[in-house]
Amino acid sequence: MGEPVAFRCVSCGREYEPWSLDYTCPRCGPRAGTLEVLYDYRILGRRLTPTSFAETRRSSLWRYEELLPVGVEHAVPLRAGWTPVYSCPTLARELGLSGLWIKDDALNPTASYKDRATAVAVAAARKLGRGAMAAASTGNAATSLAGFCASAGIPCHIFVPRTAPKPKVAQLIAFGALVFAVDGTYDQAFDLCSQASAHFGWYDRSAAVNPMNVEGKKTGALELWEQLEGELPQYVLVPVGDGSVISGIAKGFSELVKVGLAEASPKVYGVQAAGAAAIAHAFRRFRRGEAILPADEPADTVADSIKVGRPRDVVKAVRYVAESGGGFVTVTDEEIVAAGQDLPRRVGVFAEPAAAAAYAGLLALLRDGTIPEGATAAVFITGSGLKDPEGVLRGLPDPTVIPPELSAVERVLSQ
Ligand SMILES: [Zn+2]
Repeated sequence: MGEPVAFRCVSCGREYEPWSLDYTCPRCGPRAGTLEVLYDYRILGRRLTPTSFAETRRSSLWRYEELLPVGVEHAVPLRAGWTPVYSCPTLARELGLSGLWIKDDALNPTASYKDRATAVAVAAARKLGRGAMAAASTGNAATSLAGFCASAGIPCHIFVPRTAPKPKVAQLIAFGALVFAVDGTYDQAFDLCSQASAHFGWYDRSAAVNPMNVEGKKTGALELWEQLEGELPQYVLVPVGDGSVISGIAKGFSELVKVGLAEASPKVYGVQAAGAAAIAHAFRRFRRGEAILPADEPADTVADSIKVGRPRDVVKAVRYVAESGGGFVTVTDEEIVAAGQDLPRRVGVFAEPAAAAAYAGLLALLRDGTIPEGATAAVFITGSGLKDPEGVLRGLPDPTVIPPELSAVERVLSQ
């Protein structure tokens, strides 16, 4: 196990004894004061070799236990991580790239990237002896927590906006979570979850406030490095809502550099919907030397998983992305829907609209020349299309209904 040396506030830099507090820096508050988990990278660098992770023979994110704050002995049976990465040479050629990879995290147990965070957060709850958990979520983090709490055998309390897509709510109910469908926005559900967790003593897994999330989420970067045998792509595209997934991925690459396993981090690019782009705008302010916060804006997009107006991991996301040399790009809903329909046809991966946004972002960055011809890139697919099929199929015609006759098949083929 990695044994953290400190939990450090991302804003004021104050360091806290590991595990001495659950969530955020009391000085800076829940928004600015998100914590980062620090390790002794010098010691880890001496201990880790390119084959260290493979030697664990674990087909889950627990193969990276050396870089995680909790040991595998606290893990639940449900498996997260070690998802496939697909090389897409034909699509790469068409786009003018010399290499393109799709990291398919829809293949996690509850079908989203969030399972990585949950696996570590639930293990932390067990380590800390917490008997119940809670989360606010646009949907995926909630279904993920519900699944892992079922696997752990502990109660799960979920706060989602009442507008969350039905398949996600179905997962929540199936996993036996107590669901509060909040008649309000995600941002209101988030605040209510924080209040209720403090009041009832639940361990809150909500994005950003719980530093375990980023620790789990960084494993996608570690996997990409290992699966590509240390040959990292130059660019990595990640859909961004709350900013937690991209913070995790950027931290993963940065830690690979710190322990001497990688020479440099890829440039990490966050992709936001044009109608929900609070972090992209905060990044622009940061670049001009202005304050990152407050980053509060109205949010409106077809991509429900990234429909966030008041992102919680905004400081980390902006800082980490800047450190990687990357940036942010916004895409319209039309581009998101088109990407969501194009990607499955080309590579056989069915992504929910938010995940397809990352692919739309790649196309946008190629168009404006930010990603040059001949470059290499990887796209993280963070959620399955089965999570929101209506969102994906928007505008596509229903299949043709025919009588059970061969002539009818011929008729359709000739059209
Ligand atoms: Zn602070």
